[in-house]
Amino acid sequence: MSNKPIFVTRPNLPPLAEFIPYLEEIWENKQLTNNGPMHQQLEKALCKYLGVRYICLFNNGTIALQTAVQALELSGEVITTPYSFVATSHSLVLNGLKPVFVDIDPITLNLDPSKIEAAITPETTAIMPVHCYGNPCDVNAIEAIAKKHNLKVIYDAAHAFGVEDDQGSVLRHGDLSVLSFHATKVFNTFEGGAIICSSKEMKERIERLKNFGYENELTINTIGSNGKMSEVNAAFGLLQLNYMEKFLSGRSRVNSYYHKNLSSIDGITIVPSAGQKTSNYSYFPILIEDAYPLSRDELDELLKANNIIARRYFYPIISEFNVYKKNTFFVNHDTAVALNISHKVLCLPMYPELDESDLERIVGLIRSAA
Ligand SMILES: *Cc1c(COP(=O)(O)O)cnc(C)c1O
Repeated sequence: MSNKPIFVTRPNLPPLAEFIPYLEEIWENKQLTNNGPMHQQLEKALCKYLGVRYICLFNNGTIALQTAVQALELSGEVITTPYSFVATSHSLVLNGLKPVFVDIDPITLNLDPSKIEAAITPETTAIMPVHCYGNPCDVNAIEAIAKKHNLKVIYDAAHAFGVEDDQGSVLRHGDLSVLSFHATKVFNTFEGGAIICSSKEMKERIERLKNFGYENELTINTIGSNGKMSEVNAAFGLLQLNYMEKFLSGRSRVNSYYHKNLSSIDGITIVPSAGQKTSNYSYFPILIEDAYPLSRDELDELLKANNIIARRYFYPIISEFNVYKKNTFFVNHDTAVALNISHKVLCLPMYPELDESDLERIVGLIRSAA
């Protein structure tokens, strides 16, 4: 059996030759950024593909998150999950806000709505949940709490590109939803991101904030950063969209293989995908329980020793990073579930090109220790 390295993910790259005509067009246009023709085309194409009304494109997901927070003019405290990528709560701290970490649901691994209300104080202005691994949050419960307490909701939807529930795109929920188009995500523009919003006024506000705050050549009323997506990134996104169906069917095949071959192993729990009609198979997280003979870290090492690079994602949880631990800019409620899951979780390799023999290698090793 081959011993070539298998990484947790590989970026989706359509054939290079197909990208050249896009570059030629950019060279002809001589417009490299600032809402150029590629940018405008990608906006239209993504609104159609995702089934959303308004989208604002960004140079990365983190700046998009920061700008989303800024656009809602929040203050004080924001309730969020520690079981996410650090950018989620970094975006709050960078806006001078206090992340308030609330625990996750042990099954969905998303923010647990039944624990949100106890964390609300007079300082609370918003909730920032994450659709973790592309599994939709309990959006109805979160909306009800937000309404009752007059809070804004920003979804970190970095994992949820193309995910739909029974009524359509999950990106329609909350005041704003934020996507990442980073190289490792299901849909990538090398680096990139977006904010989904529901009104023209909000789109215009976000567009100003991502362009230094300019309203026109002579007017700036808010300090904004530079979050603009370049033409090269936008062009790559357009090409990438042509391949989404192929990429997703590859991911779906890998997902089915894992389900079929891992579900009977004692001590291995597959994190269920719940509440979605259309999934994007963005990750394949499993939990290594006590009944499995190896610890999570031992299994990770066994895979590594065989050139299979899985990832402990999310470990550590955000509140366990030094910079959070040694500072007082956040509030920590009891997050025992998140902490426990972070010690058991392992994301297995997931990308469309994994073939039968790659998958046999991965599953064979997990079985061999069981
Ligand atoms: C990838 C990711 C981000 C950050 O996106 P970038 O485009 O890398 O800046 C934010 N939140 C979550 C949950 C992510 O996975």
